[in-house]
Amino acid sequence: MKKIAILGSTGSIGTQTLEVVRSNPDLQVAALAAGSNVEKMEEQIREFHPVLAAMWTEEAAKDLQARVADTEVKVVSGMEGLLEIAVLAESQVLVTAIVGMIGIKPTIAAIQAGKDIALANKETLVTAGHIIMPLAKQHGAAILPVDSEHSAIFQSMNGEPKDKIEKILLTASGGPFRGRSREQLQNIQVEDALKHPNWAMGRKITIDSSTLVNKGLEVMEAKWLFGVDLDRIQVVVHPQSIIHSAVQYVDGAIMAQLGTPDMKLPIQYALFYPDRRPMAGKRVDLFDLAQITFEKPDTDTFTGLALAYEAAKTGGSMPTVYNAANERAVALFLDRKISYLQITELIGKAMEQHKVTAAPTVEQILEAEAETYEYISGRMKL
Ligand code: NDP
Repeated sequence: MKKIAILGSTGSIGTQTLEVVRSNPDLQVAALAAGSNVEKMEEQIREFHPVLAAMWTEEAAKDLQARVADTEVKVVSGMEGLLEIAVLAESQVLVTAIVGMIGIKPTIAAIQAGKDIALANKETLVTAGHIIMPLAKQHGAAILPVDSEHSAIFQSMNGEPKDKIEKILLTASGGPFRGRSREQLQNIQVEDALKHPNWAMGRKITIDSSTLVNKGLEVMEAKWLFGVDLDRIQVVVHPQSIIHSAVQYVDGAIMAQLGTPDMKLPIQYALFYPDRRPMAGKRVDLFDLAQITFEKPDTDTFTGLALAYEAAKTGGSMPTVYNAANERAVALFLDRKISYLQITELIGKAMEQHKVTAAPTVEQILEAEAETYEYISGRMKL
């Protein structure tokens, strides 16, 4: 029996992780955490019987406590609650399916407690990869990628020595606006940007996919996960999303993972690694593939990707600023307070004014995040 804890259980990755649990009776849920969705959390508690559940606010936790008073579950709240879940003795793997830098501290606590991490929360590696990766090595904790591209790279590296990698080919669908000019992007509305061509995901990451900021964050995530220099990570636009990413080796061989777009595969792979479990669902039929195509990303139009390479090259606290500025800008766009193109403009401005701290501590990362939020609020006169 493998016991897992999930941070962000009510979200897109969280609920799909629970679907994987449903079809694997030897997986058991030890703890669940969410932000404010008390109703869904109640349902999940009744179905999966965790020993511990956390809501972010005390108010939500009280509401949940009242709803599940007839069960054995202990309800906790805030960062303390997340940390309690991260180190819970009953759990072996922490699934980080929470959004944002709030994932950093629980991930660190879980690693220190010897848990393996099934990592979806890319913000943790983007902003604190220099802390997380050495810490995981020190504690012998595995960081197992859940992001589909990183899982594909991980699967393509199975049994291969790292020093034989020539480059990583990180695929991108190109999003719903592939092929458009900046002029054509000027009047993009929230509804347009929320229509991803291939994947069904949370709102924030769907917008990030359309701006290619998500790909930028994934480049940084790949750099830390696989210890590969930035100039050896190449983004390849592949609109059909059949090849989920690939690795090219020093002899020219390219190993790739192909599949239908279903996050349950990388989630299940992370939870059972190195085992590969059966999974029901649609298969890629090679005979049905009329063609699969590849393009270079248009970084002049989708400046978010170019800014990500710049942030990653600068390093230190700059990736935090990139991520925080994007988080705030996407929220403003979803609230219809800024235009689509202003998302990446704001990221660029926030990066320009930032004074970089090299190798920031967790506190300095969180300070850089807060300063970036403040900068954007000030600029937008919020
Ligand atoms: P969602 O927005 O769908 O879900 C976020 C989850 O985090 C919800 O359960 C939410 O709870 C919870 N949450 C938010 N704030 C807090 C908080 N303060 N304390 C505790 N829980 C909180 O996000 P996704 O599932 O799309 O993404 C999660 C992470 O995975 C992100 O880092 C994303 O980049 C990454 N990812 C997602 C993919 C996808 O396909 N969706 C693919 C690859 C990576 P509540 O419902 O109560 O608000």
